[in-house]
Amino acid sequence: MNCPRVEVDLGKIRCNTQTLVGRLGPGGIGVTGVTKAVCGHPAIAQAMLDGGAAGLADARIGNVQRLRAAGLKGPITLIRTPMLSQADQVVQSCDASYNTESLVISALAAAAIRTGTVHGIVLMVEMGDKRDGILPENLADIAQRVMQIPGVALKGIGANFACLNGGAPTAIQMAALSALSNWIEDVCGPFLKVVSGGNSANLPWAFGEHATGRINDLRLGEAILLGVEPVSGDQIGGMHTDAFTLVAEVIEADANPPLSPITPIDPTAQRVRIVANSGAFARMILAIGHQDTNILGLSMPVGSTLIGATSDHLVIGTPRSLPTVGSEVRFQMNYSALMHAMAAPDIKVKLLGELPSPVLWPPQGKADHLAVV
Ligand SMILES: *Cc1c(COP(=O)(O)O)cnc(C)c1O
Repeated sequence: MNCPRVEVDLGKIRCNTQTLVGRLGPGGIGVTGVTKAVCGHPAIAQAMLDGGAAGLADARIGNVQRLRAAGLKGPITLIRTPMLSQADQVVQSCDASYNTESLVISALAAAAIRTGTVHGIVLMVEMGDKRDGILPENLADIAQRVMQIPGVALKGIGANFACLNGGAPTAIQMAALSALSNWIEDVCGPFLKVVSGGNSANLPWAFGEHATGRINDLRLGEAILLGVEPVSGDQIGGMHTDAFTLVAEVIEADANPPLSPITPIDPTAQRVRIVANSGAFARMILAIGHQDTNILGLSMPVGSTLIGATSDHLVIGTPRSLPTVGSEVRFQMNYSALMHAMAAPDIKVKLLGELPSPVLWPPQGKADHLAVV
């Protein structure tokens, strides 16, 4: 009845956030918790805030509205430049947004004036990812224009790395972002409240020896949720990598499956593995498929082999002990599998470790995870 489901250990998410906040704080960097991979799930967002995140951010207005509908009051920033058609909603539910287009900024200003608020603008600078952003040489012009438009306030600048192109940012790139913020202040006058250095891919830089300069914020999703550094995929010291578990149910179990080569007709063809006919091989089918998650982002149970998947079935080879029909199989997920599973309508979310408020921190017996490494 409760399969498939994602089990979420809120204590581990709180703990991961706390670890990052503790490690980045001495360098003057605050943590903004990014909720897009969990579709703005309010309890997960709250766990980030309880762990010390200074605010929340999401790429989609629908997710922000979900957070607001659940009563979350803290600052929320839209980190994808708003759609022109959504200016009113953005102003209503977000304190600030990342922007690259003058036309959109004007629309946000008009919407803010209509609602009697002032909307914060963070200008996204293109520093090498080649996704979104204003070229550094155009930044001062746009910043000055933002300063002159009633209804919006220039709140800061931000950059993004290792999303569409390139690797983790270098110390030179980060120093360039600091220098840009000083230059914008020289030209425009006001103090920039936010200089947001990037995402989880910035962590190796932020944990490094060099000075962090003007950077005072990182927008962290994957590192908090999965405890890993995205470019290398390595676990971050002291972090939980198992806050999320995907659970699926066995709907067929064959002790002696056909071992003749299978000729699939779907794109997972190259993923098919023919397992040696050792006599100790069995096959199970789980009620989960491509429609629910990124199957290739699941880590198989120990000793098991992915045979293939279709839209609704996952076929796994298992060494000896065959689970009975109706039993559950548990998987860890990478970022892509998590993101798809959290958005899948047929996957339930089961929360573990919800704390009554006020939140007591640290919980007993978890202190060893907080050690600065
Ligand atoms: C998704 C996103 C983030 C968070 O990225 P993670 O790798 O999950 O930390 C930060 N900033 C922007 C603009 C994003 O789109």
